[in-house]
Amino acid sequence: MEAREQLKEYLEANNLKLTPQREKILGVFLELPGPVSAEGLLAEVGGDENGISLSTLYRALGHMLRAGLARRIQLNSGTALYEAVDGCCCHLICERCGRRVAVSSPYLEGMQEVAARQEGFVLHRCRSQLVGLCPRCAAEAGKKN
Ligand SMILES: [Zn+2]
Repeated sequence: MEAREQLKEYLEANNLKLTPQREKILGVFLELPGPVSAEGLLAEVGGDENGISLSTLYRALGHMLRAGLARRIQLNSGTALYEAVDGCCCHLICERCGRRVAVSSPYLEGMQEVAARQEGFVLHRCRSQLVGLCPRCAAEAGKKN
């Protein structure tokens, strides 16, 4: 399941809405290359400019933690960092109509783990794009030929 859908489902189950602010925070958070502090994330999302206060951000982070999308890392210095825990997120993307389908498969994830390990990497998350034609566009392209 996509992170956005996962958060939306969690929020709806708790009678909350996926507000533009929460969606923005999630989107920015997931694109970060590594763990971030709440203040760091606030700077990334543009803070006040986007109507996001530190308390809004903390609440959103709390939801993301409980929805299983984020992990909290408590440093010895007392600072807490947050890291995305969405495992694998691969998308099939149709280059003709732009349709996106999220796919997740243990097989794909396993392959990525192996590839990362071979290079000595510890994998946190992946962003794969498999680009081609969706069934509808492929059928249409077939008709023309
Ligand atoms: Zn298509």
